[in-house]
Amino acid sequence: MKSLRECIEKARADRTAIGHFNASNIETISAIFRAAKKQNTPVIIGFSEGERDFFGVRQAVAVVKSIRDEFDFPIFSNADHTYSFERVKEAIDAGFDAVIFDGTELLFEENIRVARKCVRYARASSRDVLVEGELGFIGKSSKVLDSLPVGVKIGEEFLTKPEEAERFVKETGVDLLAPAVGNIHGMLASGLEPALNIERVKAVRAAAGASLVLHGASGNTASDIQGAIKAGAAIVHINTELRVAYRKALMLSLQENPDEVAPYKYLKPAMQAVERTVEAKLKIIS
Ligand SMILES: [Zn+2]
Repeated sequence: MKSLRECIEKARADRTAIGHFNASNIETISAIFRAAKKQNTPVIIGFSEGERDFFGVRQAVAVVKSIRDEFDFPIFSNADHTYSFERVKEAIDAGFDAVIFDGTELLFEENIRVARKCVRYARASSRDVLVEGELGFIGKSSKVLDSLPVGVKIGEEFLTKPEEAERFVKETGVDLLAPAVGNIHGMLASGLEPALNIERVKAVRAAAGASLVLHGASGNTASDIQGAIKAGAAIVHINTELRVAYRKALMLSLQENPDEVAPYKYLKPAMQAVERTVEAKLKIIS
C-alpha cells in the first residue's frame, strides 16, 4: 500500500487532490471511510486539538490505523491545527501520519522557528511523518458564520505572498504548506463565500515548491476547488459541511423517533448524511 507521501505525489501527478475530513467520533470516521472506499480513493482523517482531546489522541491514531490494516486501504490520520511544539510532539509520539503546526497567529520569524523545530522532531522519528506549516490567517472555527471570521481580511495584500512562502518552506523544511488564498475556516450562512484566488495558488506553489493544502473548503464552489487543485493544492480540507450534515440528520432522527434510545439506531441517519456529503466532495476533488 502507498504511504501518505506517495499518495500525495500521485495526486499531484494526476492533478487531483486527497480529501481531508475531520472527525471527533467513531461514526464520522466510519462514514468518511465508507465514502472513500466506495470511490477507491485515499483519504485523510483530521483531528483538531479539540477533536483529539474529545476522542483521545492515541485512540484517534489507533482507530484510523485499525481500518487501514483491516481493509488494506490508504486512510491516514492528521493532527490538524496544532498550536504548540509540545502538542505536535505529542501527536507524533502517538503515531499520527501527519501533523500541522499552525503558527499563523505568531510573528513570521517565530512561525518559522517553531515550524522548523517540529520538522526536526518529525525527521528524528522512525516513521515518515509529514509536517505541514501555515502562512496567512484564515480564522479558527469550523462553524456556520454570519460574516468573515474576526481578523480575516481577503484583499489581495492580505493573502500569502509567494516570496514569504518560498522562504518559509526553505527555512523550515515543511512537506506541505497551507496558504491564505481567499479561503476561510467555517462557512458563511449566506452561502456566498469569497472566490479563491487561483492565480495566487499558482504563484505560491511555484515559489514554495512544496505541495499546497487548501483549508476551509466548506462553502467554496466546485469550480473554485477544482481550480485550486489544478493550480497546486494536493489536499483539500472539509469540516464544517460534515458537521452541519451530521447535526441536521441527528436532530431529524431524534424528532422522528422520540422513544428511540439505542445510539446505534438514532445515530445511523447522521452517519449516512456524513457519508453522502463526503461522497459528493470526493467526486469534486479526486
Ligand atoms: Zn484548517
